[in-house]
Amino acid sequence: MEADIERILIPRDVIATRVREMASEIARTYANTLGGIVIVPVLAGSIIFLADLIRWLPFKMRIALMTVSSYRDKTVGQPPRLLQDVSIDLRDRHVLVVDDILDTGNTLRLVMGQLAARQPASLRMAVLLRKTAKAPRDVKADFIGFDIEDVFVVGYGLDFKDLYRNWPDIGVLRPELYS
Ligand code: 5GP
Ligand code: MG
Repeated sequence: MEADIERILIPRDVIATRVREMASEIARTYANTLGGIVIVPVLAGSIIFLADLIRWLPFKMRIALMTVSSYRDKTVGQPPRLLQDVSIDLRDRHVLVVDDILDTGNTLRLVMGQLAARQPASLRMAVLLRKTAKAPRDVKADFIGFDIEDVFVVGYGLDFKDLYRNWPDIGVLRPELYS
C-alpha cells in the first residue's frame, strides 16, 4: 500500500491534533444543548474520522448512518444518490452531519436537504477536508478540519476504488494508478 502513495499531504499526528481541536469546537457549540444529539456520518468515507472524533465528544449521542453513492470513479456528471437514509426520528433533535470531504458540495447538498426536511431542532455539518477550488456558496460546513488544494486524496477513510481507506495518513496516489 505504501508503495502506491506518492506523497503524504497530512500526516497522522497532524490529523490527530486537529481532530481533537475540532471536537473541542463541537463540544463548545453543543455545551448547552440538552439531549437529543444525533450524529449522522455519511458512509463510507467518514468512518475513521467519525471514530476518532466522537471519542473526544463528552456528551450522549445517537449515531444514525446514511449512505450516498457518488459515481465518482464510474460515470462522470451523475448526481449523487441516497442509498440508505437514517432510520431514527430527527424531529426536534440536534443533528450533526459528519463527512470526509467537501468538494463540489453535491453530496452534502443532497444530505442536508434530506435531513432538513425531517425538521431537526438544528442541523450542522463537520467535514475533515474542504477543497477550496470548487467551494460552493450554498453548502457551508460549520466545522472544517483542513482546507486542501484540488488534488485527489486517499487514506484516513478516503478511498480510491474502495481501497486505501485504512492508510493512516492523508496522501496523494501515484498518478499512474489513476489511468
Ligand atoms: P462532492 O459531492 O462534494 O463533490 O464530493 C464529495 C464526495 O466525493 C466525498 O464524500 C468523497 O466520497 C468524494 N471525494 C471528493 N473528493 C475526493 C478526494 O480527493 N478523494 C476521495 N477519496 N474522495 C473524494
Ligand atoms: Mg463520501
